This record gives sequence, structure tokens and C-alpha cells, in this order.
Amino acid sequence: MTSAALRSRAWKLLEMVTTPLLPSDYLDLVSPLRAGADLRGRIESVRPETADAATVVIRPGRSWRGHTAGQYVRIGVDVDGVRLWRAYSITSPTDRHDGRVTITVKAIPDGKVSNHLVRRAKPGTLVQLDQATGDFVLPQVKPDKVLYLTAGSGITPVMGMLRDVEFDDVVMVHCAPRPQDVIFRSELRDLVSDKKLRLAEVHTDTDGMLDIARLGELVPDWAERETWACGPAGLLDAAEEHWTEHGIPERLHTERFRPSVIVAGDGGEVTFSVTGKAVDADGATPLLDVGEEAGVLMPSGCRMGICFGCLTPLKAGAVRDLRTGDITEAEPGVLIQTCVSAAAGPCDIER
Ligand SMILES: Cc1cc2nc3c(=O)[nH]c(=O)nc-3n(C[C@H](O)[C@H](O)[C@H](O)COP(=O)(O)OP(=O)(O)OC[C@H]3O[C@@H](n4cnc5c(N)ncnc54)[C@H](O)[C@@H]3O)c2cc1C
Repeated sequence: MTSAALRSRAWKLLEMVTTPLLPSDYLDLVSPLRAGADLRGRIESVRPETADAATVVIRPGRSWRGHTAGQYVRIGVDVDGVRLWRAYSITSPTDRHDGRVTITVKAIPDGKVSNHLVRRAKPGTLVQLDQATGDFVLPQVKPDKVLYLTAGSGITPVMGMLRDVEFDDVVMVHCAPRPQDVIFRSELRDLVSDKKLRLAEVHTDTDGMLDIARLGELVPDWAERETWACGPAGLLDAAEEHWTEHGIPERLHTERFRPSVIVAGDGGEVTFSVTGKAVDADGATPLLDVGEEAGVLMPSGCRMGICFGCLTPLKAGAVRDLRTGDITEAEPGVLIQTCVSAAAGPCDIER
């Protein structure tokens, strides 16, 4: 008998012994990060960065395939017994010698996962992971001049880039309410003293919001620079308009943490037929939030319409895409992204 056949017989025997569980369920208990297991990570430490932001150091399982600077990872965290998935940019460099990855999370008011990670997550906790993904990355050929335009937690993917790749000429404009709110401030200062970065901090509590039309006062040659921008929708919308007005939209690369919602309409009664729940929803709240609020177990991912982790069959009725206003009506096999769709009249979501 070949060794493969022997292994297969041994595994079948194990399956008989461990029924109703599978042998892999027991292996998960003793070796959750092994190759071949569902991808998980173990939180090794949580390091405060500012009063409401912290860096979480994660040891990923063996099947982790690494990342490219600027990408994000979806992470599944158990909060009060419910597994919630969120996306976080990876802030560690790609060649970190100990193989750990870091994410840096800013706790937002009433945010379930961000507050849990910043204030309550304990070393040793296992989290679910997806492979890193995202196209907010640097090109193969290094541009001569780079501008990073960031605000608040939008600094995270850019910090991943700054830690990974050095440029001869790189300027960063970063906005935060006050100096003490600037995440990674001392590391940025070190880069400035080492002449690896030119930095303009805008403290919005005292300086006011950054007026993109006056970016030239901070960075006179901004239009010549390949630019990566990440921050709140208002900043990114203004930047996209500004770069387009100057005829150079291709020089601006943006990463959004939330979808730009532009359309809302009438809502309706939403039925979750599998769970047997029905609730009234307005026409602006994503069905993902409506379901979670009603206690329905909803799959989720980036929560902004890019990862398709929330796809769910629409059994009846109609929904509206909050980004475009497009209406989707129920038909056999129709799937909707619940994170960017709202009720457009009564509808039935197969959950
Ligand atoms: C590609 C990508 C990368 C990301 N990278 C990071 C990162 O590196 N660091 C980081 O801190 N966050 C990052 N985020 C945002 C993160 O995924 C979560 O949205 C954020 O942590 C809030 O989750 P929560 O569970 O705490 O809030 P929830 O409980 O989902 O929401 C609570 C309330 O806050 C509002 N809300 C949700 N998200 C935001 C937001 N981003 N800003 C303002 N209000 C919000 C909701 O509408 C709701 O009213 C990223 C998002 C994406 C899509």
C-alpha cells in the first residue's frame, strides 16, 4: 500500500473515532494556526498609539500568503459572542523579520469592532483572517516624486508604504484634530529628522479643515507628484475633484474606508425569511446594518461594497444600490451586496 493510501485510511479511522466532529476540529484546538487550517491569527499584543488608536500585532497562521504595502486584511472578531468582520489596512512592512503583521485601529464613537480592538482585545485571542487584498498599492516602477495625503486613521495604509519603500522625494500632508491625535507621530518625526520625509501637519482644531484648493501653499509642486490619499469622504471627494479639474486624475490614487453614499429613497419592510424576522427599514440604511440590528446573522466584509463578502440572495421585492441609485428586483439567483443596498419597498432577504 502506498504511503498516501495509508494516510487516507488512517484519516478515515480517525474520522470514525472523532465523529460527530472531524479530526480537523480537534487539530484546530491544539494547532489553530497550522497550514491547511482556516486562516486565523493570534493577537500577540495591543499597543496604544493615541488616546483612541492602537496597533494590534497579529501572528498569522501558516497559510498566510503575505501582503503588498498599502493592502488591507479582513478580520473576523468575536464581539459579545457575535463574529463581526471588518477591513483594516496593514501597517507593518512586508519583510517584517518575525512574520507578524500589524493593523492600527482608531476607535470610533459607538464602533463595535474598533472599540473592542482598541480597548478590550487581549493578547492570545484568536481572530479569523482573510488573505490581504486591495489595489491601493505602489507601482512597480518608483515615481520620482510622491505625495501622501492623509487624515485621521487614513494614515494607516500610507504608513505601511512608508515603512516598506523609500523614495528620494516624498512629502506627506496629514490632518488630525490636534498634535496628540496624529497616529505614528514620533515615527514620522524620526523620518523627517532622517530626511526621508517632508511632513506638513494640519491640526484641524486650530488650523481648520484642509482646503484642497490651497494645497499648493503647502506643496507647490503637488501636481507633479504621484499621490496616494486616504481619509474621510469629504477630503477624498475634494481631492478627486481638484485633480480632475487640473487634468491629472490618473496621478491620484485613493482608498476609502466607507462607501460614498449618494442616493437614498423610500424604505420598506424587510423580511429575513430564514430567521423569521421582519423589521421596518428606511431607504438609507444598508440592509447589512438593518439585519445586524435585528439580530440576524449577516455575512459581512469590507462594509463598503468592494469585497463582496456580504452577498446574499434577494428572495422578493426590490433594493436600491446606495452608491448609484440602481434598483435591483428579486429574480431567481439574484445576489445583492447588503452593505451598500437599502430597502426600496418591501423586500425579503434570504437570511
Ligand atoms: C479597505 C479598508 C481599510 C480600512 N482600514 C482601516 C484602518 O487601517 N484603521 C481603522 O481604524 N479603520 C479602517 N477601516 C475602517 C474599519 O473597517 C471599520 O469600518 C471601522 O473600524 C469601524 O468599525 P466599527 O465596527 O467600530 O463600527 P460600526 O459598529 O460598524 O459602526 C458604528 C458607527 O460608525 C459609523 N462608521 C462605520 N465605519 C466608520 C468609519 N470608518 N468612519 C466613521 N464612521 C464610521 C457607522 O455608520 C455607525 O454609525 C478600513 C475600512 C476599509 C474598507
